[in-house]
Amino acid sequence: MHEKEARRSLVMVARSLFARGYAVGSAGNISMRLEDGTYLATPSGSSFGTISEEDIAHFDEERNLLSGKSPTKEVPLHLACYATHPSMRAVVHLHATYSTLLASCEGLTDGLPFDPFTPYFVMRVGEVGVLPYRIPGSVLLAKDIEQRPQFTTYLMANHGMLVCGHTLTEAVNAAEEFEESAKLWYLGQSLPLRYLKPEEIEELKAKR
Ligand code: ZN
Repeated sequence: MHEKEARRSLVMVARSLFARGYAVGSAGNISMRLEDGTYLATPSGSSFGTISEEDIAHFDEERNLLSGKSPTKEVPLHLACYATHPSMRAVVHLHATYSTLLASCEGLTDGLPFDPFTPYFVMRVGEVGVLPYRIPGSVLLAKDIEQRPQFTTYLMANHGMLVCGHTLTEAVNAAEEFEESAKLWYLGQSLPLRYLKPEEIEELKAKR
């Protein structure tokens, strides 16, 4: 995707996420890797709701700013995602309510964060990497990602979620699916849910 078109879709996605409550205040950030190997990212301290195409940061691999405002402080985390997943072109990081609650639970480990009970959670999200608690913007998070190359979706302990995608649409759809699944998990805790059986989970995994 070319820069101009990418800027437009990034702004559209950010505003849509804000309008539907997936991001509040200046929380969350989105980046894209362009065909020429440069990057776009939401600017530092910006709100998804009021972001404009000119504000989007455009920078190169060495983090030299080419145009726009300076990018989010969480750029090292995004660059680590691209380095670890060379085929990925977009990264979405959100502090959405239910996935952040899930990320704040004790005892999380890499894999399924809860027993699945909907097919779409298995097909679109599935197993996730759990990044240990770090102070936001910590350079250590890059190593944490590198150590978990088998995952494309991550829970960041006490912080939020991080999703990589081959396209911006794929990353956003997976992030929304993850948040909705976390919401269902939270709301369903006191219900007599029928969880998916191991063979049903295996069948769904084959469809991913
Ligand atoms: Zn964050």
